[in-house]
Amino acid sequence: DTQDTVKQRLLEKDRKHLWHHMSVHSDDPMIFVSGEGCWLTDIDGNRYFDAMSGLWCVNIGHGRKEMAAAAAKQMELLAYVPLSHSHVPAIELASKISGWLGGEYRIFFSNSGSDANEVAFKIARQYYDQIGQPNRYKFISRHRAYHGNSMGALGATGQAQRKFKYEPLGTGFQHVPPPYCYRCPFGKSTDSCRMECAGIYDQVIQWEGPETVAGLIVEPVITGGGMIVPPPGYLKKVKEICDKHGVLLIVDEVICGFGRSGEKFGHCNYGVGPDIVTMAKGLTSAYAPLSATAVRADLYDSFRERSGTDHFRHVNTFGGNPLSCAVALKNMEILEDEKLIQASGELGRRLSERLLGLSAHRTVGDIRTFGFAAGIELVEDKETKRPASAENVAKVIESCKQRGLLIGKNGDTVPGYANVLTLAPPFVTTPEEVDWMASTLEIALNTLPAGDESFLTGQKRHSEFDGECTA
Ligand code: PMP
Repeated sequence: DTQDTVKQRLLEKDRKHLWHHMSVHSDDPMIFVSGEGCWLTDIDGNRYFDAMSGLWCVNIGHGRKEMAAAAAKQMELLAYVPLSHSHVPAIELASKISGWLGGEYRIFFSNSGSDANEVAFKIARQYYDQIGQPNRYKFISRHRAYHGNSMGALGATGQAQRKFKYEPLGTGFQHVPPPYCYRCPFGKSTDSCRMECAGIYDQVIQWEGPETVAGLIVEPVITGGGMIVPPPGYLKKVKEICDKHGVLLIVDEVICGFGRSGEKFGHCNYGVGPDIVTMAKGLTSAYAPLSATAVRADLYDSFRERSGTDHFRHVNTFGGNPLSCAVALKNMEILEDEKLIQASGELGRRLSERLLGLSAHRTVGDIRTFGFAAGIELVEDKETKRPASAENVAKVIESCKQRGLLIGKNGDTVPGYANVLTLAPPFVTTPEEVDWMASTLEIALNTLPAGDESFLTGQKRHSEFDGECTA
C-alpha cells in the first residue's frame, strides 16, 4: 500500500469510529505519528512546532527515551496495587511534591485535573463538617476560569458556553468577575484601580454568609480562559480575604504548575501559601495520566483519626498507580537536572520581548504573558476593543499551521470572545525558535484583511467613524 492509501484508510476509520474531543478537528484531522522535542511529525512526514505543548502539558518535550525507560521498568516490576496499600513510587512522589511545595502537605492522587479539583471540593466540605461547621459548602470561582469537565469541576468553571445542555451541575458554586485589566469588569483603569476584582470576594462572602462558604478556587492566572493575568498583589489580597473569613484557598495549578510560570508553581510568583493545591498535566508532562490534590497537613489531621464510614470516602482505581508515579518522578527529575524551570522563565522573558514587537499591529489589542505562556488578544478595532471575529482568529491559526507552527486559542468563554491566541511551548524550545514563533505570528497577522486603514496606527480618527460597531 502506498502511504497515501494507508492514510486514507486511517482517515476513513477515524471518521467512522473516533469521537474527537473538539469537534472542529474531526473532519480532516492531522494524524501524528511521532514527536521529538518541540516537533511533531504527521503521517505525511510534515513537521510542526507544538507551540501549545499539546494542551499546555508536554513541558519537557516529546519523545523522551528516559520517560519510556522509567515507564517500562516500573511496569515490569509492579504495574498495580491500589493506594489503600502503598508502593514505592507513590511514597517517593508524594514526598517530592511536598518538597516542591515547600510546606507540610499530604498528597491525594487521582487521574485528571478534573478529578483533582473534585477531590479538593470534597475534602474541603468534609473538613468543615468534621470541625463542626457543616454549613460551609459553597465555593467561589471566577467567570472565564476553567476547572474541569466533571459535574463539580464544571460547576466551578466560569464559562457558560461549556455548561449549557449539561445542567444541573454540581451546586454551590458562585462566580465573581475575573481580574481582567484589559476589559476591567469594574470599569477601572490602571490609575483608578483599587483592586476591586480582589475586594469583590470580601463582599460576596459577606453576602453569601461566611458560615456557608468552604473555599475559593483560583488559577494563579486564568490560562485556558484567555490568559488573564491579575494585577500584582491580587492573589495576596485574595488570601487575606480567605483568612479573614476562615475560607480555604484552593489553587488550581493544573496548567501553571511544574514550571510553566518560571517557578515550580504559579502561586510561588505571588508569595502565597494555598490551603489546597491541585495539579495534573505538567506533573507527568502528559506521558501518563496522573493528578494530585495537595492538602495542608493540619487539614489532613482532622481526617487522620477517622475510620469506617467517617474517613474520606473517595476511591480512585487508577489514581496514583505505580506506572504514572514513576513517570512523574522521572519528569520532575528531568525538570531539575536540566534546569528546565529556569529555562522556562528565561524563554518566557524572551517571548514577552519578541511579542512586544507585535503590540502596534492593528489587530493586537493586548498581549499578556506569564512565565513561558502568552495570550494575544485580537481585536477588530483597537479603540472599541471589539473582539476579532472567529473567522479571522481561525485564519491566523491556519496561516501559522501552514508555516509549521501549531498555536492555540481560548475556548468560547462568552459568545464572540474566542479571540485570544495562546502559546505555551515546551521548555526545551531554543531562543531561535522563540524568535521564529514571534515572526511567524507576525506574518500570519499580516494575512488578515486590512479592514479600515485608519486603524493601522492603532489610533482611530473620530472624524472617519461613520457607523456603529456590530460585534
Ligand atoms: N484545571 C485547569 C486550569 C485546566 O486547564 C484543566 C484542563 N484544561 C483542568 C483543570 C482539567 O484537567 P483535565 O482535563 O485533566 O481533567
